[in-house]
Amino acid sequence: MTTVQERETIAIQFAERMNEDELLNCMRCGFCLPHCPTYIESGLKESHSPRGRIALMKAVAEGVIEPDEDVERSLSLCLGCRACEPVCPSGVKYGHLLEEARDIIQQNKNIASL
Ligand code: SF4
Ligand code: SF4
Repeated sequence: MTTVQERETIAIQFAERMNEDELLNCMRCGFCLPHCPTYIESGLKESHSPRGRIALMKAVAEGVIEPDEDVERSLSLCLGCRACEPVCPSGVKYGHLLEEARDIIQQNKNIASL
């Protein structure tokens, strides 16, 4: 769980550090969906798909949503298997986006308890 202050810092860093071009590369075609184990295992929940995770990362970077527990859960449940990358017609480097997003969250979480 993150505090309000931590979420604010995470949101700022998403805006500063996430690769906007890469986020915009996703054209939401859905070709990656049948290749994503967490999408299938979750009963086809969009937030547990590559497309859904990219949309969440983009929404946080643009300040449309907060990096709340649902966003954190969606990103933490990703296996990082990158099965979504080779099937993407836009060549979205999903793994880089995921690593950056997770790094931002980990670096700014629980700062008060350090
Ligand atoms: S296949 Fe690529 S462009 Fe299509 S929804 Fe998935 S990540 Fe986005
Ligand atoms: S890395 Fe694997 S689990 Fe994560 S979104 Fe891509 S296919 Fe799904």
